[in-house]
Amino acid sequence: MNIAMSMLDSVGLMALLSVILGTLLRTGLSKFQKSVAAGFLFGGGAVLSMMSPIAIMPGIIVDGRSVMIGLGAAFGGIPAAIVSAAIAASYRVYLGGLGAFPGATGIIVAAILGTIWSRYLRPKGRIKVYHLVVVGVIISLQFAVAFLFPYEIAIKMIYDVYPIYFLASVTSAVILGTLIERERRLISSGASLKQAAENDFLTGLANRRSLQMAASDTENPAESGSPRHTLVVLDLDHFKQINDKWGHDAGDRALVTFADIMRQHSRAGDVVARQGGEEFAILMKNTSLPDAKNGMERILQATRSTKIEGPAGGFHLTVSAGMVEYRPAEESFSAAMSRADVALYNAKSAGRDQIKIAQYNKAA
Ligand code: GH3
Ligand code: MG
Ligand code: MG
Repeated sequence: MNIAMSMLDSVGLMALLSVILGTLLRTGLSKFQKSVAAGFLFGGGAVLSMMSPIAIMPGIIVDGRSVMIGLGAAFGGIPAAIVSAAIAASYRVYLGGLGAFPGATGIIVAAILGTIWSRYLRPKGRIKVYHLVVVGVIISLQFAVAFLFPYEIAIKMIYDVYPIYFLASVTSAVILGTLIERERRLISSGASLKQAAENDFLTGLANRRSLQMAASDTENPAESGSPRHTLVVLDLDHFKQINDKWGHDAGDRALVTFADIMRQHSRAGDVVARQGGEEFAILMKNTSLPDAKNGMERILQATRSTKIEGPAGGFHLTVSAGMVEYRPAEESFSAAMSRADVALYNAKSAGRDQIKIAQYNKAA
């Protein structure tokens, strides 16, 4: 019973681990870095759990380490498996005793078993309790390292200790696995809420709100010098007629296609947004007007030459654009926006399918 108590005692430790893991997963680290960091976390957890062991025979100890390591491997990926197993196995060797070699081996086996589960048995969708029961059962198989002891000791351990160890292993896997899964679900639902709040549903482009946010970042006084950005507003030509002639669905397809064209022709730092309806905007940070103009000409050219699928052979689109230089140190974003709108209006009046630039005029 002591063994079960000791393993369940680690529930507090598990809760702590999962909270730290959640914080870790929310950082901007790369996938590999997160996995390595998770390895340190689970390796550390295993070491802590070895610090309150139950000695079942002199030099032979049992504790919650294998579950920590197995689950770390099951959920953290291969780098996590290697790092956590290396930490825990080293510590077990350092503790010494008769069980040092089998113990360290058991740790490595638990990491391998967790990895096997993650590779071959992990469900694609939601992880349910019975999946975690399977994880616990599989990890408990590392107990087979008992056969590294003399045969009589191994048999005695299997009879006396394994049943309890098995139960504790399954219970811990369910508890720790549920906590980890919960963190992961919270993070992914947070990410999809963020995606929905910041992006346009139809085209997946940034929405008006995130363009505003990106613009207010440029007003950050921390940005050195007086940076110059380019702001472009775009409006599809005669879009009402397109809807009327080809139908609303074809209109939607045209919006999506145009969004893709803008994406393909923009650079990594550009914020490409759908302002609403058939109106779009691009904020090109630290880009001069002449550079931006070339990119915009390519967008207009690509738009002109791309056929939108529709009944009777499909149709073509054109777009008009207004461009301005935006200097956050001297002008508000909304003032720059208004100037761009005037330029857009001029492009429309001049016959559409073209770009007009409004010069910055300090006196105005
Ligand atoms: P102009 O060249 O002067 O810009 O003419 P226009 O017809 O494009 O301008 P107007 O503002 O009169 O019409 C915009 C049209 O865009 C009207 C509206 O039905 C259509 N529209 C707005 N949002 C959507 C949308 O999400 N899907 C579709 N299919 N059409 C949309
Ligand atoms: Mg419009
Ligand atoms: Mg229009």
